Amino acid sequence: MTNSKIWLSSPHMGGNEQKFVNEAFDTNWVAPLGPNVNGLEKDLEKYLGNEVHVGALSSGTAAIHLGLILLDVKAGDEVICQSMTFSASANPILYLGATPVFIDSEEETWNICPKALEEAIVDCIAKGKKPKAIIAVHLYGVPYQIDAIKAISHKYDIPVLEDSAEALGSSYKGHKCGTFGDIGVLSFNGNKIITTSGGGAIVAKSKELKDKAVFFATQSRDEAPHYQHSEIGYNYRMSNICAGIGRGQMEVLDAHVQLRRDMHDFYVDLFATIDVVTVFTVPNDDYFANYWLTAIVIEPNAAVGIDRETLRLCFEQANIESRPLWKPMHLQPIFDKYPYYGTKIAETLFEYGLCVPSGSNLTKAERERIKEVVNKFFK
Ligand SMILES: *Cc1c(COP(=O)(O)O)cnc(C)c1O
Repeated sequence: MTNSKIWLSSPHMGGNEQKFVNEAFDTNWVAPLGPNVNGLEKDLEKYLGNEVHVGALSSGTAAIHLGLILLDVKAGDEVICQSMTFSASANPILYLGATPVFIDSEEETWNICPKALEEAIVDCIAKGKKPKAIIAVHLYGVPYQIDAIKAISHKYDIPVLEDSAEALGSSYKGHKCGTFGDIGVLSFNGNKIITTSGGGAIVAKSKELKDKAVFFATQSRDEAPHYQHSEIGYNYRMSNICAGIGRGQMEVLDAHVQLRRDMHDFYVDLFATIDVVTVFTVPNDDYFANYWLTAIVIEPNAAVGIDRETLRLCFEQANIESRPLWKPMHLQPIFDKYPYYGTKIAETLFEYGLCVPSGSNLTKAERERIKEVVNKFFK
């Protein structure tokens, strides 16, 4: 008998999702609006606190696209973006015909490096092109250096678009991720900490800004009995069916954050006696991570055949999914012609780093299978 596949991160339903979906069917709210959409937005606003206004959208990528539009990014503008991230952080810059400027990571949180960020801003300003926005990401649910990035944003008066797609449930100094940027972004894709099967949200600081995002997301319809448009519109609103799944998922969010953190503890224990492996962990108690994915760094040792790739292949052989860390954007064929500021921190992390199965639904038996592969590999 072959073992079933252990995924990096798979959907984990709480139980009430179908109840909300059934309500949508029973009341015929099968549309990109309805009580579940409003309900999910309210649930998220309550969860995030800090008086935010949430607009539910069809994806996190859509939220980044609309966020950049709301920050007035236009063709020919420069937009700063953390290099080490998923491509969805950067693609919307190109949708708008703007130019991405990529920034290295720092070693503590693996996120946007304040030093390289300031260097890039000063350089862009000297060239007469002040960047329009800074896209900062909480990688794997570990918050970026919030205070340092905020200080730079204020010093140069450049807004932050906070890509919190991986960090719902994480916080910094007691405040929830998603609420730190001028605009925040959440994702509910199938592999994220909670899912709506596919979906996202924009987090705004004012009702006007949220309403504007929803206006763009529903084809920019002017007030009129007929269809009238004076701005470009998009079809980016979340469906009431998906939002029903989201309402059920919100009931179990904190419990699932705890389960992901338990998985992280499991790996800290597992690798405690293995010197060549470091488990990625928050730098201090100001940071609270949801540990959406647990990531490790493996110091290679050619003499005994140990490196990131051989471990990944051993996992694969045991039908266990693992994946190298995000390949930095400045190394991607689609983005490598754009400016980059920094050294080789993100590059090195990509070379030696691996994400390991982190789902909130992994069983004891599945953990044992992971343990077995690791212990055999490092023996
Ligand atoms: C998943 C993800 C996104 C995109 O969200 P979708 O809902 O999949 O469009 C954006 N940024 C980061 C860092 C992500 O991990």
